[in-house]
Amino acid sequence: MIQILLPVGFLVAQVALFALLPAAISGPAAYLFMVAAPLLAAAAVLRRGLIERGAARNGWFALALTLAIWSAGAFGNYWEEVIAGRLYEMHRSSMLAFNLAVVPVTFLLAGGWGGSGRRLARTVDALLAAVLGYAYFLLVWSLLTARGAPDEAGVRVMLWLMDAQNLVLAAGALIRWRAAGDAKEWLLFRTLAGYTVGYLVIAFVNNHYVAANPNFGARESSIVTVVFALVAALALRPDPESAPPRRASGLARAVHEASPLFLAGTLLIVSLFLIRVDYAFGAAGILTAVLGYGLRNTATQVRHIAREDRLERDRSALRAIAWTDALTGVATRRFFDQAMATAARRSLGASQSLSVLMIDIDHFKLLNDRYGHPAGDVCLREVARALREALARPGDVLARYGGEEFIALLHDADANGAAVVAERLRAAVQALELENLGSPLGSVSVSVGTASGVLLGDAAAARLVDAADKALYEAKCAGRNQVKASAERAA
Ligand code: GH3
Ligand code: MG
Ligand code: MG
Repeated sequence: MIQILLPVGFLVAQVALFALLPAAISGPAAYLFMVAAPLLAAAAVLRRGLIERGAARNGWFALALTLAIWSAGAFGNYWEEVIAGRLYEMHRSSMLAFNLAVVPVTFLLAGGWGGSGRRLARTVDALLAAVLGYAYFLLVWSLLTARGAPDEAGVRVMLWLMDAQNLVLAAGALIRWRAAGDAKEWLLFRTLAGYTVGYLVIAFVNNHYVAANPNFGARESSIVTVVFALVAALALRPDPESAPPRRASGLARAVHEASPLFLAGTLLIVSLFLIRVDYAFGAAGILTAVLGYGLRNTATQVRHIAREDRLERDRSALRAIAWTDALTGVATRRFFDQAMATAARRSLGASQSLSVLMIDIDHFKLLNDRYGHPAGDVCLREVARALREALARPGDVLARYGGEEFIALLHDADANGAAVVAERLRAAVQALELENLGSPLGSVSVSVGTASGVLLGDAAAARLVDAADKALYEAKCAGRNQVKASAERAA
């Protein structure tokens, strides 16, 4: 309720005063209304900023700054026209203030939302916005005073330039409002859109009709307070219960990507015009635009490279996790499957023999039952280490295939080679002499099934593993702690 009462009360008081007071008093009073309205709106916006956090807080603060600077410009007009009595002229300091008031809004419209580690980009944006505001003022003022004192032709050009500026700001605010990615952003840019669109309309009416009509004066042009009342109403309005729909759309991304170009590009264009009337500042503006854009892009580039590195590190870490068995430190079944697939692909056309060894700990369940699960884990680790050390060639792959089952892939090894390696593995485990009284042997042993062949594609690879598994089963049936080769010629 208060968000309606306060602004409307202000406007009613303003109109009532104009109606009741004689023109000699209400005329000067109109100037003060134009000073007070943006100040009160700034207070409402500031209060809103204090409630918010992060990007939203900074955004509301920026808008408050805009309103405060505008108020200073209005005060300049009051001072010049009412106190100093310089009527119906353009006042340089006020004009400067009105142009600088645009700076925080421009910064808001061109900047990103949230996001961490972007301080440099924000600083560059702020600098570009400030230089742009000042350059635009210099350009407008130079056109206005091109023939000495402000004249009618100069005023006309200046008014169109101001309309153009207001139009760009209103369009920018509307786009940002539509492209808002979260509720906080949506609410801020709705207020900004209300302000800039309202200001565009009122300023147009004021500049082209009110100011041109000799019967009208400060009282009529003070309708601009309606815009500030609207801003105050929007800022005081409590957040809606249901957040507006999120629109993290392609539009939002496009706006975000284009914003640095918008600031630097506009500054470049304005500076190119300015260089004809103010060489030093025009050149400085061009330099600022180019350097600022370059710096901003470099910063973005550096950030992207750093993120790329981070992602690559994460990827390697994930790969290591996916490919390494946590308990035994040997490769995982996933890694074995990939190695097998690679071997199958590479062997197409070649004729090298490959061997698969399926290795299973004998009577492991009895060991677990007798000595406990933790002892079983220790045994698994010891067996894995022994197997790994017994595999001589660096290209050989050893993986944990299941609970107490391991699998080895031997490149360039035929059935004879496989038999030799398998026997070495079996002997290595037996040599560990790990106690397992549940087994007839009295210590831990493994059974090994081998299969060898020339691979031709994925199906052949699967058949080879299958054959090794069958051979393992034979070794188990034949009394365990031994090696069996697959009878069938796999592949
Ligand atoms: P066989 O000689 O016929 O291979 O008999 P086995 O007892 O070794 O085979 P079985 O398949 O009956 O039992 C395998 C056991 O391995 C059952 C399960 O509790 C145990 N196991 C599987 N994974 C782990 C593990 O990560 N740690 C421990 N401690 N035990 C495991
Ligand atoms: Mg077993
Ligand atoms: Mg088993």
